[in-house]
Amino acid sequence: MSASIKTSSVNFPPEISVNQSLFDTPKCPGIFYQTPARDGNIIRVRIPGGIINTLQLSAIIDLAKNFGDANVYLTNRANLQIRGVREIPSTAVTSLQQVGLAAVIPEIDHIRNIMASPTAGIDVEELINTLPLVRELDNYICSHPELQRLSAKFSVGFDGSGTVAIYQQPNDIKFVAVRDLDGEIYLRLLLGNSTNIVIHQQQCLPVIVALIKVYLMQVNIHTSSKPRFLEVVKNLGTEKYLELVKSELPFVLKRTNIQFDERENKHHHLDIHQQKQLNLSYIGIAINLGKISTSNLQKLGEIADVYGNKTLRLTPWQNILIPDIENQNIFKVKSEIANIGLQISASSPQSGIVACTGNQGCKAGITDTKAMATILAEYLTSRISLDLPCKIHLTSCSKSCAYHGKSDITLLGATIEKNGLRTEGYNLYIGDLETNFGREIYRNLPSTEISAVVLKILQIYQEKRQDLQETFVNFVNHYEIPTLQKLFNIDHLLTSIFKEVKD
Ligand code: SF4
Repeated sequence: MSASIKTSSVNFPPEISVNQSLFDTPKCPGIFYQTPARDGNIIRVRIPGGIINTLQLSAIIDLAKNFGDANVYLTNRANLQIRGVREIPSTAVTSLQQVGLAAVIPEIDHIRNIMASPTAGIDVEELINTLPLVRELDNYICSHPELQRLSAKFSVGFDGSGTVAIYQQPNDIKFVAVRDLDGEIYLRLLLGNSTNIVIHQQQCLPVIVALIKVYLMQVNIHTSSKPRFLEVVKNLGTEKYLELVKSELPFVLKRTNIQFDERENKHHHLDIHQQKQLNLSYIGIAINLGKISTSNLQKLGEIADVYGNKTLRLTPWQNILIPDIENQNIFKVKSEIANIGLQISASSPQSGIVACTGNQGCKAGITDTKAMATILAEYLTSRISLDLPCKIHLTSCSKSCAYHGKSDITLLGATIEKNGLRTEGYNLYIGDLETNFGREIYRNLPSTEISAVVLKILQIYQEKRQDLQETFVNFVNHYEIPTLQKLFNIDHLLTSIFKEVKD
């Protein structure tokens, strides 16, 4: 009988001596430990920097076809997941290690959460290419098994200040390229919020190592549940934490007087964009709800082999970029992508819809967000054409796993009860004021009414906005909620028996 890797089991290579009490099975799924979900087990494959070559892609496709549900799922950390897994042989894991998709030391694989802007190295506006920093950190993690004592959710993000910003993503430690008053380019340190510390690129790894050291000194490494990195920073206070970090470093940390500059994302992770390299462009492809069939993924790999540089880039918005396409081939590539039913437009309603796993795959879910999102995408796509991108976020509970940024419209799962009957519904939030989800405008809307209501809201926005440049968020933020309710006037759309329970 062949050896197999089952839920929550770990194979330790014989050359590594690991104190089991220090390596409690992480709560996050990985390659060496699957976590159960309603649709089977989940395997998560870390892709540092989000860049995957086509050889690695083939290994992922084989894994999904042979042991999963024949789809590949993109995560909001620009990693990949295989779902519906029952049991996989250890040879499958070995082949992932052989192509560089899994750490040789299993215990540290789950902390290889290293994010970079998906346009790092090719972005026309970036101040620095952060990919060497990603590789340097990944190499460091892979050769330091003691880092297994970090929280399983530990993550680092590098933002080179290009057109595609990732500094808003919820990584523990973030660096954003800035030009300081002396004209030099530095990396600004963010620990949740921005600090005023700026460092040179070559100081990046020592600073991360010092930040980790302080964390490990502050937590009880023998407990199974490790606090999140930022929780420890918050409990100690950022300045005190940084004082301890300083004492671990052989150089002084420079402080800057310039304000942290919030950049707006320009949706350049979708569609065709010129690279900083002459005559080369990249193309960003929308992946409906982050789920792509193995056959479509294989086709994208073939396109990258023929027209690109044999790599794909994953984004935290759950879509895929093909870089390094010669400009003369870009429309050929566009039509090949269209031929497999995928599209690239940032303003298509479907491109802006994101949903968490929902109650079909997650025990915390109370609504089937994926099904709702699919219905909503089809409904909107056939009825409205948007000229500006619009982010619609469906989340089955307030944990908001699928998307941490600000949305135009958020639908938060709810259970509606009336006369002894229960149905799934959503509370609808708009804009970006007051809460992370924006302001609540409707409560307990039955699922059956959601598509018509969202369509009406978008139609009124397109009809009443000041000009074609006014975004949805700017439009709704101008008005008080009662005024918006009057403008949207959705009452006649509510037909289900649950309609009275709305506000
Ligand atoms: S947001 Fe809630 S329901 Fe959705 S996947 Fe996360 S924990 Fe599960």
